Amino acid sequence: MAVHQFQTEVSRLLHLIIHSLYSHKEIFLRELVSNASDALDKLKYLTVADEAYKSIAFEPRIDISFDKEAKTLTIADSGIGMNEADLVEHLGTIARSGTRAFVEKLAADAKKDSNLIGQFGVGFYSAFMVADKIQVTSRKAGEEAAWMWTSDGKEGFDIENAERSGHGTTVHLHLNDEGIEYAERWSIEDIVKRYSNHVAFPIYLSYDQKEWDDKGKEKGSVHKVEQINSGSAIWRRSKSELKDEDYAEFYKQISHDTEDPLFHIHTKAEGSLEYATLFYVPKKAPFDLYNVDYKAGVKLYVKRVFITDDDKELMPTWLRFVRGVIDSEDLPLNISREILQQNRVLQNIKNASVKKLLGEFKALADNNKEKWETFIGEFNRPLKEGLYQDFANREAIMELVRFKSSKVEGWTSLAEYSSRMKGDQKSIYYITGGEEKTLKASPLLEAYRAKDIEVLVMSDDIDEIVVPSVGKYKDWELKAVNRSGADEELGEKKDKDTEKEMAPIVERLKKALGERVKDVKLSRRLHDSPSCIVADENDPSIQFAQMMRAMGQTELPDVKPILEVNGEHPILLALKGVEDEARVADVAGVLLDQALLVEGIKIKDPADFVKRLNRLLSK
Ligand code: ADP
Repeated sequence: MAVHQFQTEVSRLLHLIIHSLYSHKEIFLRELVSNASDALDKLKYLTVADEAYKSIAFEPRIDISFDKEAKTLTIADSGIGMNEADLVEHLGTIARSGTRAFVEKLAADAKKDSNLIGQFGVGFYSAFMVADKIQVTSRKAGEEAAWMWTSDGKEGFDIENAERSGHGTTVHLHLNDEGIEYAERWSIEDIVKRYSNHVAFPIYLSYDQKEWDDKGKEKGSVHKVEQINSGSAIWRRSKSELKDEDYAEFYKQISHDTEDPLFHIHTKAEGSLEYATLFYVPKKAPFDLYNVDYKAGVKLYVKRVFITDDDKELMPTWLRFVRGVIDSEDLPLNISREILQQNRVLQNIKNASVKKLLGEFKALADNNKEKWETFIGEFNRPLKEGLYQDFANREAIMELVRFKSSKVEGWTSLAEYSSRMKGDQKSIYYITGGEEKTLKASPLLEAYRAKDIEVLVMSDDIDEIVVPSVGKYKDWELKAVNRSGADEELGEKKDKDTEKEMAPIVERLKKALGERVKDVKLSRRLHDSPSCIVADENDPSIQFAQMMRAMGQTELPDVKPILEVNGEHPILLALKGVEDEARVADVAGVLLDQALLVEGIKIKDPADFVKRLNRLLSK
């Protein structure tokens, strides 16, 4: 017998699950049934796709039995099975780094949100909520030896040789006080129907039924085995015979989410290309949405045979929050993963699916305000990634993305913005580089406000990459107000006299600031503030450069701002009579640093700023 320790993360995960999933503890059965179903899917695939497995009998079934007296519950499947190494790897470690990150997050989260746990399919380990000992006996298809894994879910597990008559896995739970209620026919049936009704393989429950004689006296019992799930591939059934509950149940089964989906889209295509798709959009963004190694959300089936649930190419990256199934009639069953990627049939299904999803998103925006708000709150950002990645669908996505605005509350679309544009307005203006509140208070917006020109407020970190790459909406150019060239619509520079009068001051400020700025200019966008900073037309904004550097992009050249000053502001006017260049330098430094501060940018030398300020104040 070999004794093993759990990987540290597993111990932590076990601890967290046991202490935080109580309100949903019955999901352990859904998880074990899903594992059994996955194991059957895997074997089914191999028996059609792999010569070596052709001779293996595929007789798929999941069997549940219980013994109330002995306090046990057993789930057995005739699936792919596990050998010794598989048992150690799959039931002793957490393989996916996403799950690891999740454990860390959960540990830090005081609320211990059980929905999060659900989304991660921590699966097997959840059985330790209801059992104080678990034995897993498994024999891998095509191998002779069977193994038994035993653990109390605390420190580790041991593995020893065992017997099993055919390939597959038997999970034997020794129920604790929390779990004893599951050694009951009705509770098992109820849970399986609720969560696993649409599992594509038959799930049998065996139980003893008592028999009574005419006088109501017990005369013994008969052993019965009964299928308790409907066992059909829901996506192949017609919409008219399916209820919302059916869709929701299947969603929970494939997504591990404990909440209902926001909406689903069920399509059956017939004709030159025959396929069925069933897609879901979750109410909440999947926890790993922004992880590089997020888990693919869409499973591929061919003629109802499971092919893979691990192919990120099935959906464009920006639609990675979509869950569901693609089932094609036109692909060969033994298609290899490499071939899949370039397969025309699949490409066509994918393209049609993306169009379909976009159409549904649009319909939601037009017809269901409440769901749309939820949708955009969660998925606006991935949609913006789509603007950048999915050139073919860019126009459709443009109609979906939403922004905040200097003029209206809440989200607004580009179409809405353009309907509010002044007759002579030539461009769509936007501001990026910071939080919504900071951006809305930026002095850069003063002149736009004074002229009643609306500015879109873009506070997502990717806006700065995405929006310039888009460039245009319909015939209007998208212009960043924190760029030097975006002010031409604001009319003439201050009148010629001011310009002439102020030119020497501007020169002196420029000299005083030297290397700290790219240029100093008289501004036409300022009203109340004395100064602001902008980036040169083709430079990234200062905030963006700072963000990239914070993310480790060190080669980025130090971008210098252009300082714009307000020639009518008392501070500037007062400089006219000043001869002391040191004083001009103090004013210059303060004008620059305050312009940076108000944009939420960290200034390089706060001590210097304070010194200058104090010198000026004491004059
Ligand atoms: P998940 O199912 O989300 O991967 P689990 O902890 O439930 O996480 O299971 C871990 C792994 O153990 C599975 O990915 C699978 O490889 C293996 N496994 C679990 N149950 C079975 C089973 N009944 N038959 C074969 N393999 C299984």
